[in-house]
Amino acid sequence: MHLEVDQIHKFFQTRHGKIMALQNINLHVEGGEFVCVVGASGSGKSTLLRIIAGLETQSAGKVTVDQQEIIGPGADRGMVFQRYTLYPWLSVLENVTFGLKLQGVPKKERYERAYYYLNVVGLGPFQEALPKQLSGGMKQRVAIARALASQPKILLMDEPFGALDVLTKENMQQFLLEIWEQTETSILLITHDVEEAIFLGQRIYVMAAHPGRIKEELKVDFSHHHGDEIKRSPEFIDYKYHVMQLMREVPVEAVQTP
Ligand code: ADP
Ligand code: MG
Repeated sequence: MHLEVDQIHKFFQTRHGKIMALQNINLHVEGGEFVCVVGASGSGKSTLLRIIAGLETQSAGKVTVDQQEIIGPGADRGMVFQRYTLYPWLSVLENVTFGLKLQGVPKKERYERAYYYLNVVGLGPFQEALPKQLSGGMKQRVAIARALASQPKILLMDEPFGALDVLTKENMQQFLLEIWEQTETSILLITHDVEEAIFLGQRIYVMAAHPGRIKEELKVDFSHHHGDEIKRSPEFIDYKYHVMQLMREVPVEAVQTP
């Protein structure tokens, strides 16, 4: 797997004129890699992920997966959003098999894959439950199982733990690292949470806003230490301050003079 984002620009026409949401974004993800994009709110992260997912069109540039240009959504890219996106009237199991049916996967295989990935995320015993019977963390596990069941080349995640309380979020971060190691899937995760990006990513891209652009690419790799204590190490804290500094920087033309 090789994902390449090549010179992506994105403009939005708004009531206040044209705004540049993304300015010349270049990034890549290799097979089996866990890459994070971190940036403040409004730096264009969701727009970028939606372009990669094929849910939004770019104004210029191109995205390729294995040299194939993206022109719309596809089963090669699995999405997990911040907001819970399960169908409330379908059971956990049916939530996972539903998308596979749309993809034309035969019934027997749909259910085999759904059982397999629900077990991977630890929800085997909950397959008959309805989403409303699940906690927020469990709903996101179903969303992850559903995305994995399509056996995508890459998992695209937009602030997947942003709606969870702190303890659940930390559990889910550890859990995601375990899934990543177990399934050897490629992941591109987008977050405003600096600690989350440094904890999870092997590489991170730091974005700044107005216009949304990449300030720096960093190699980190704490991702094989599953344990929160790593977040208190001096090396981790140094990265955290460095990234926060980059996110804070505003371009000269955006600074208001009194
Ligand atoms: P982030 O996910 O980092 O918070 P977004 O990608 O949601 O950032 O938004 C980036 C910028 O683009 C923001 O200024 C936002 O207001 C603007 N934007 C996003 N979507 C639209 C849209 N559909 N129409 C107009 N402006 C948009
Ligand atoms: Mg967003």
